[in-house]
Amino acid sequence: RFSTAAVLEEPITPPVQINYTKLLINGLFVDSASGKTFPTLDPRTGEVIAHVAEGEAEDINRAVSAARKAFDEGPWPKMSAYERARIMLRFADLVEKHMDEIAALETWDNGKPHEQALKAELPMFVRLFHYYAGWADKIHGLTVPADGPYHVQTLHEPIGVAGQIIPWNFPLLMFAWKVGPALACGNTIVLKTAEQTPLTGLYVAKLFHEAGLPPGVLNVVSGYGPTAGAALASHMDVDKLAFTGSTDTGKIVLELAARSNLKSVTLELGGKSPFIICEDADIDKAVEQAHFALFFNQGQCCCAGSRTYVHERVYDEFLEKAKARAIRRTVGDPFKKGIEQGPQIDSEQFEKVLRYIRSGIESNATLECGGERVGSKGFFIQPTVFSSVEDNMLIAQDEIFGPVQTILKFKDNDEVIKRANKTKYGLAAGVFTRSLDTANTVSRGLRAGTVWVNCYDVFDAAIPFGGYKMSGIGREKGIYSLNNYLQVKAVVTPLKNPAW
Ligand code: NAD
Repeated sequence: RFSTAAVLEEPITPPVQINYTKLLINGLFVDSASGKTFPTLDPRTGEVIAHVAEGEAEDINRAVSAARKAFDEGPWPKMSAYERARIMLRFADLVEKHMDEIAALETWDNGKPHEQALKAELPMFVRLFHYYAGWADKIHGLTVPADGPYHVQTLHEPIGVAGQIIPWNFPLLMFAWKVGPALACGNTIVLKTAEQTPLTGLYVAKLFHEAGLPPGVLNVVSGYGPTAGAALASHMDVDKLAFTGSTDTGKIVLELAARSNLKSVTLELGGKSPFIICEDADIDKAVEQAHFALFFNQGQCCCAGSRTYVHERVYDEFLEKAKARAIRRTVGDPFKKGIEQGPQIDSEQFEKVLRYIRSGIESNATLECGGERVGSKGFFIQPTVFSSVEDNMLIAQDEIFGPVQTILKFKDNDEVIKRANKTKYGLAAGVFTRSLDTANTVSRGLRAGTVWVNCYDVFDAAIPFGGYKMSGIGREKGIYSLNNYLQVKAVVTPLKNPAW
């Protein structure tokens, strides 16, 4: 009945050394003001990988001062946009050169399969910086045909110092989504990485300086949310805040921003995304995509397809195949070839996921497979599938953020659109159908920032991403992300020519 995932052997030694554990402020690695450090753990074992300098309010102050100076005194915001782009491209080249080490570090700190980090996330990271470097010298204002004898133009200026707070599930990609547009627009940055995954942010930020980034333009502070994160969100000299994380924390940082200096805020928050399989869907493809939509990255995706709605006519077939696929999923040391699923990030998330599994069982959903931890060390969980799930069950409402697929039955499209929308979230959705009409009707009916039709988790530097409702404010990536980092200034000049 249960998945027979491998019992773990001795963990593979990661092929990388840890060289950077201090805070990166004004182009230099420095200790925290308090001298404190915190441990970052290997999710395969729960053992300490390294002790990292712990930034707090005073370190945020130092980092913001450096970013302020770099913004006010330059050269970054005033440098030619082409020169900024060249530094970003040189950085992308350096990341490409060090891809093996960076991917190994990401897997070690986060637990994600090494092949995923190396073959998917690192190339995407590089692609994002190419994309944003391409924007740098194409950002400009307009001339406006106003009434009266005036020459009116808009200048698109960088906002200033951007504070950026990122989560642990995609440490590198979140770095790229945030840092890329901010730098392309000429801002300076204080980035707070997640306390679970501080290592790759420091590594790549060091490479950015090797590529020619002036000191103070990108400062990286490792540390905890309520200390370093809150200090950044409430800082009076930070002009813009970009946050990715949970909806609860999003509310806190929005409030901190409002109570301090009304800095503008963009939020990428949680989700409970519906994945709808219509009766005419190609079932084998839908099974595979629904599996990927939920289990990718150990289920730790904000846009995970975590409510799998299946039409009643194909429900039994889908369920059998989805369960068989979950049982086949390979769980183990993420450094091992062919492993699809590594450990959850830490004991807190691990316990939370197991609690939701218990809640599913107690609420009388049917546990089809999985449901338990794998091995006795680290934070591995069996790929788990629940069927006969009802909308009002906790496992169908809360973001589980783990390898737990919940399968629900529906009868017709109008009904499923209503049910899919009955959530506080609105990050993403998927629909599987062979009918163009159904695809169009369902995708227009869903209140979500992304709708994937007959696919899922297709990401691209140019495709905007963000949430409806409590999944966030604003869009990242693509052309839409640039507005997050620009101010528009209208400049009005009387026209002297009387012939006007
Ligand atoms: P979290 O909100 O606790 O942490 C995210 C970041 O916020 C971390 O850097 C953390 O240190 C910081 N933080 C925590 N408390 C803070 C505070 N009081 N003030 C300022 N900063 C603070 O989230 P988590 O539990 O680490 O991550 C999982 C959640 O993140 C999930 O709910 C998931 O949906 C969400 N997430 C969303 C997206 C997205 O793009 N929408 C992406 C990844 C994760």
